[in-house]
Amino acid sequence: MTFASLGLIEPLLRSLETLGYQTPTPVQAQAIPAVLAGRDLMAAAQTGTGKTAGFALPLLQLLAMEGPKVASNSVRALILVPTRELAEQVHEAVRQYAENLPLTTYAAYGGVSINPQMMKLRKGVDVLVATPGRLLDLYRQKALKFNQLQTLILDEADRMLDLGFSEELGNIYRVLPKQRQTLLFSATFSDAIRLLAGQMLNDPLSIEVSPRNVAANTVKQWVVVVDKKRKPELFIHLLRKGKWKQVLVFAKTRNGVDALVEKLQGLGVNADGIHGDKPQATRQRALDRFKASEVQILVATDVAARGLDIEDLPLVVNFDLPIVAEDYIHRIGRTGRAGATGEAISLVCADEVNQLSAIEMLTRQTLTRQTEQDFEPEHRVPDTDSSGQVVKKPKKPKKPKTSGGSKRNLGKWVESGDASAVEPSIKPVRKVPVFNTGPRKKKP
Ligand code: AMP
Repeated sequence: MTFASLGLIEPLLRSLETLGYQTPTPVQAQAIPAVLAGRDLMAAAQTGTGKTAGFALPLLQLLAMEGPKVASNSVRALILVPTRELAEQVHEAVRQYAENLPLTTYAAYGGVSINPQMMKLRKGVDVLVATPGRLLDLYRQKALKFNQLQTLILDEADRMLDLGFSEELGNIYRVLPKQRQTLLFSATFSDAIRLLAGQMLNDPLSIEVSPRNVAANTVKQWVVVVDKKRKPELFIHLLRKGKWKQVLVFAKTRNGVDALVEKLQGLGVNADGIHGDKPQATRQRALDRFKASEVQILVATDVAARGLDIEDLPLVVNFDLPIVAEDYIHRIGRTGRAGATGEAISLVCADEVNQLSAIEMLTRQTLTRQTEQDFEPEHRVPDTDSSGQVVKKPKKPKKPKTSGGSKRNLGKWVESGDASAVEPSIKPVRKVPVFNTGPRKKKP
């Protein structure tokens, strides 16, 4: 199969040739003809499957072939994404695909001044990539109108709900024209997402390119068990032993990111960190330097690292397991992209056994465990398997507790101490927006 056989026009084929894309990926093969035919889409596609081109190529083709010239302060297609980094990344991909078409594109997100964005929107843009909060700000400040909008794309929709954007999505939805094409992409599909899709999509075609909630099988995954307090030491040991060249490391909290970066830098290791407390420019610079291999170790929280596309990343390390099991799939999706092989190593302590169990259940696999010599944990990590059971209880210290201690509670994983510093991404928000589908009210 070729991109030409999917019905793409010549200017897009030329862009793909420049980018070196030869064969459509499975999600592209399914999504491109459906979007060109005007269908709504509900696509379960992992990151790294080529989903961006899957929606962007046919979108650009439709915009180039039909519809009016964009009016001032208007947009013809809106791509909503959960984070600033993803906005930059998706916009960059769209810009490259649109290279040979007379279409304008732009990315707008929070954390930076709104005025240049308002100026830019004066002339209107064909494709706007935006985060929900900033989009609403722009709309409320009358920098944006949606009467020309013909396509809405929700990228990483599950993440938008997890980040608590359900209210913003509801508010955006209310001011969009009813007559439009809607495409919903999500790496994983919770019931909340299915409900959202039911409200926003019209007779959608469902695409599922990989089994639901299964991580890419090109990523070799295993666990190293260790005591919590020895994780930094173990990380440094593994770094040296494995002669790791470039590693993306996930830590649970902002404090955790800062502490590990400081420790590594103190040892002369070339490391940098990104999390939600850092200014956007600093985060982008750290990311760019990591992508350019000027930084060896990038330590990140989930919110900062969501959806990043880093070519040829060989290794992801979970310094802490994620609190939401689905984040594990997103994290390890940073490696093993576009068919390359990758490795994902998780440093797991006894406190994290419930997270491990939930990950194994979600990914339907029991992760191989290793113990590193001299780092054998004093606090044993109980056995787990993909059934979601913690198979054996941890060996108790001599004095067994008499009440309550063994209850499993998969819903409450935030440990004591620095819970306030946990990034918003890992506070699961399971609210489902209830959209008003009745007659539209007056605009605010
Ligand atoms: P995505 O899942 O959209 O983040 O894409 C993952 C990576 O695969 C990006 O670096 C894309 O540039 C690349 N990619 C997407 N489609 C193709 C293709 N058909 N052939 C080669 N690389 C691709």
